Amino acid sequence: SIEVPTNFIRQIIDRDLAEGKNEGKVVTRFPPEPNGYLHIGHAKSICLNFGLAESYQGLCHLRFDDTNPEKESEEYVRSIMEDVQWLGGQWDGEVRYASDYFDILYDCALELVRQGLAYVDTQSAEQIAEQRGDFKRPGQNSPHRERSAEDSLALMERMRAGEFDDGAAVLRARIDMQSPNMNMRDPVLYRIRKVTHHQTGDRWCVYPMYDFTHPISDALEGITHSLCTLEFEDHRPLYDWTLDHLEGYLRGRDLLPARPRQYEFARLNLNASVTSKRKLKQLVDERHVEGWDDPRMPTISGLRRRGYTAASIRRFCDMVGVSRAGSIVDMGMLEAAIRDDLNTNAPRAMCVLRPLKLVLRNWPEGHVEQLVAPNHPQDESMGTRSIPMEREVFIDREDFLEEANKKFKRLVLGDEVRLRYGYVVKAEEIVRDADGEIIEIIGSYDPDTLGKNPEGRKPRGVIHWVPATLSRACSVRLYDRLFTEENPDKAEGGFLAAINPASLTLCAEARVEPNISVAPESRFQFEREGYFCADPDSTDAAPLFNRTVGLRESF
Ligand code: ATP
Ligand code: MG
Ligand code: MG
Repeated sequence: SIEVPTNFIRQIIDRDLAEGKNEGKVVTRFPPEPNGYLHIGHAKSICLNFGLAESYQGLCHLRFDDTNPEKESEEYVRSIMEDVQWLGGQWDGEVRYASDYFDILYDCALELVRQGLAYVDTQSAEQIAEQRGDFKRPGQNSPHRERSAEDSLALMERMRAGEFDDGAAVLRARIDMQSPNMNMRDPVLYRIRKVTHHQTGDRWCVYPMYDFTHPISDALEGITHSLCTLEFEDHRPLYDWTLDHLEGYLRGRDLLPARPRQYEFARLNLNASVTSKRKLKQLVDERHVEGWDDPRMPTISGLRRRGYTAASIRRFCDMVGVSRAGSIVDMGMLEAAIRDDLNTNAPRAMCVLRPLKLVLRNWPEGHVEQLVAPNHPQDESMGTRSIPMEREVFIDREDFLEEANKKFKRLVLGDEVRLRYGYVVKAEEIVRDADGEIIEIIGSYDPDTLGKNPEGRKPRGVIHWVPATLSRACSVRLYDRLFTEENPDKAEGGFLAAINPASLTLCAEARVEPNISVAPESRFQFEREGYFCADPDSTDAAPLFNRTVGLRESF
């Protein structure tokens, strides 16, 4: 695995280990909510949590934070497991679910009530919100704040038994309605939601809130370092409050293998992109893209389909680093990571995106010659392949002009160019259709130019090509950025208004050389066109490639 640069969290762990904390153990967790597919931001958290566990010989848990049943699904659970695994995250033991702990969480809630630290509030959500105040205005106590523990316990049992409707009652922590930290103003710990849960079915109709669930789940699992993004910094006092008051109770039940601590790091944001599951879901639901794994999406599954390797995403996360300073990372950095990987590891091949036929009149009819091409210009170990050459070949429309100055290093009427790994050819005549469009070029080749220059003449350049009948028809999807704005979230009219209408170009008539694999996930540099990956839908009968990234920085 890759050498991981140090960061402030590693320094905290090193200090904890030096002080002998947590019996020398490091246990982290990656805690996604299964309410969407994972995106590139999650990759940062995955690399951090699983990476720390690996380098400290500790453990990392995969735990679904599944306390909002109405927004979650088994489909999301499955996709998240697949994406974490693909990125190389190896979780310890079984996959965990916060819902595994619903019984203990409920017991913990009752325990807080017994300690006089929580009460059932039967006001409406609006009343509660109104009394909460805001940054300028202190909160007001609920009229139910002094409800006795007995009454709250009885109400809590009735809530659990389904006697109340959604929203009719909540359990709140009794902390401080004057706190400058809004999260400490008697936050809701439990609410009623009469919906079927993807893991627990209809067993529960009261569900714990994230801020209550998270610290307890961490404690139950013996998590030592609970890493989250900076928005949760203001939630840390509640995290600690919860554990401070339940530590004794959990220890008494032998359920506190470690006292976890929360640390925050900056979220990853990518320019010209959105990294919020809610917004990504909107792109999918409103059909701006074809699905969560559309190659234009910044989701892990989208990037995978686009042709990104897991190693390149891990490399990118290392380059970004981990700190508390938020910043927007340039998409070019993500592209550089995959370009570096594929430049080294992807075999070369030729694919003509917009074919134009070139007929070589002096090439013997029916004759086929096998030309030999190296699969990688710098890596002999990647071997060679043969490319059949015949009388008719395809070149790219953009590689031909009737007239051009010397700067045009491609084929021009009356002039010569070399076909990559092949002969020097000359364009002599143009064939047009009824509309005047060029449909064919007629020319000739110089048989004495394979692997050597013609005497006394200099061809304009070298272009890629494929044999006309012996190549394979294929489709190629070229992608541009999904958003036209640097920061789509700040776009006038919202992020949807910043969608690039030309983010996908389909080359439906492309042709690729024959002796290469078109099986899903085959990756190539198609010479002069960029790096490509065969789509999961690619078959021998209908090869389909996605352009992962161009050869050079495009933005
Ligand atoms: P979103 O806003 O996209 O829904 P989230 O934080 O609500 O993100 P979770 O499923 O709760 O999504 O995330 C799981 C873990 O991934 C959390 O620990 C979270 O801090 C981390 N994470 C999510 N987004 C990012 C990001 N952009 N950069 C770094 N870490 C992230
Ligand atoms: Mg979250
Ligand atoms: Mg979220």
